[in-house]
Amino acid sequence: MGEGNAYLKNLPRVDDIILKIASEAGTLSETIVKRTVQEQIEKNRRRIQSGECTSVMQEQIIADVTAALEHEKRRHLHGVINATGVILHTNLGRSRLSPTAVAAVTKVAGGYSNLEYELETGERGHRCDYAESLLIQLTGAEAAVIVNNNAAALLLILDSLSKGKQVIISRGELVEIGGSFRLPDVIKSCGCELVEVGTTNKTKLSDYAERVTERTGVILKVHTSNYKIVGFTQDVAADELNGLDVPVIYDMGGGLLVPLDEYGIRGEPTVAQCVPHADVLCFSGDKLLGGAQAGIIVGRSKLVDIIRSNALLRALRIDKLTLAALEKTLEQYLFPDALSKITTLRMITEPVETQKAKAERLINLLTDKSNASIIDTTAQTGGGTLPEAKLPSIGVSINCENFSANALEAALRGNCPPIIARITNDCVVLDMRTVDENELEAISECLNCLHEKSHLKFR
Ligand SMILES: *Cc1c(COP(=O)(O)O)cnc(C)c1O
Repeated sequence: MGEGNAYLKNLPRVDDIILKIASEAGTLSETIVKRTVQEQIEKNRRRIQSGECTSVMQEQIIADVTAALEHEKRRHLHGVINATGVILHTNLGRSRLSPTAVAAVTKVAGGYSNLEYELETGERGHRCDYAESLLIQLTGAEAAVIVNNNAAALLLILDSLSKGKQVIISRGELVEIGGSFRLPDVIKSCGCELVEVGTTNKTKLSDYAERVTERTGVILKVHTSNYKIVGFTQDVAADELNGLDVPVIYDMGGGLLVPLDEYGIRGEPTVAQCVPHADVLCFSGDKLLGGAQAGIIVGRSKLVDIIRSNALLRALRIDKLTLAALEKTLEQYLFPDALSKITTLRMITEPVETQKAKAERLINLLTDKSNASIIDTTAQTGGGTLPEAKLPSIGVSINCENFSANALEAALRGNCPPIIARITNDCVVLDMRTVDENELEAISECLNCLHEKSHLKFR
């Protein structure tokens, strides 16, 4: 019997530890607490067996269990405060729904609904009929189909219109979107052959024309929404491709429904502006549209009908919660106050003075205001949209003597609710453009608490 085994005998019992950490368990279930304790004891048993350490103190195990339980408590999906200034932050859930859209989701979520039921006839109905009619109204397209995200929309379009055929695309548009969504891979996985034309910076109409044959399925245009090629460039607009007698598909990415030019965001076309130039278009429901995660396909009836009859649609359909949110958001576009009522659009278009007022209020709420300062920042739309749009914004920069910026950033992240900030020039910056008025109190409480407990000294 090795020496280690004698130490193993000293490992505490599961029940003893459970008693000791009862107050840490909070709302976690008994099952999870027990499993966590077992795992931590087991981990320490292995440490002894491997000779990494000889004896393990009960305190060590309690500390390990407490840390593991803290982690467990924060694992579920929950709200965070986005102080990054990135409005469509992909990792933080992209678009925030408007309060009206949230109310619509809540109503449908806990009860039965007319999801696929015709109330006039008592017969089976179609879930997306109404939302699709709103899309037709808002974009001027002949027909619309909704699926669960834009990647699915593209997949469904290519599977319906180009399976076993060639997809012609410019080399300047072979993009990768976040989450390893690479266009060449998507095209191939749909059973299409990729035909690249032109070069990274220049593609001409003749480059497309030369490659059109009877094996061509579609021409795909992709809005290079997450980067910009500048300098010696040329590309072919979707409408120029119409003469080639091949369906032109346009993946717009963002899905802007109202022009934002007067808010300083120029050059981003709206869906309605692009509809006349392509046969089928697709875009996300939760980027610039400001609704729920969805993929929206609009275009000519003849082609949209083919897409709608694809059996894959059943696997890609959206659920009722998404539909409730999307319908309500689309309805909001029918009113003149859409820009102030749809949360994402409000955040993009709100004047910088509003951000300044929030910053001043936040500083006012701090017990030690000495080195929290108001600075000019640049917010972004994010989500791979509008790479050139620089939204002037205001940040509260926090500068401390005894806390590195990294430590403060981590402490904010560890708060409940977590506050996600960024670090600029060695200071933690809280950008007000993505922070709500009603979140200022939680932020100030967190900073005041750090100041008090951890003797966070503002310089
Ligand atoms: C974001 C984006 C997609 C993917 O959209 P999801 O809704 O995330 O699936 C596809 N194409 C373009 C051009 C995009 O910008």
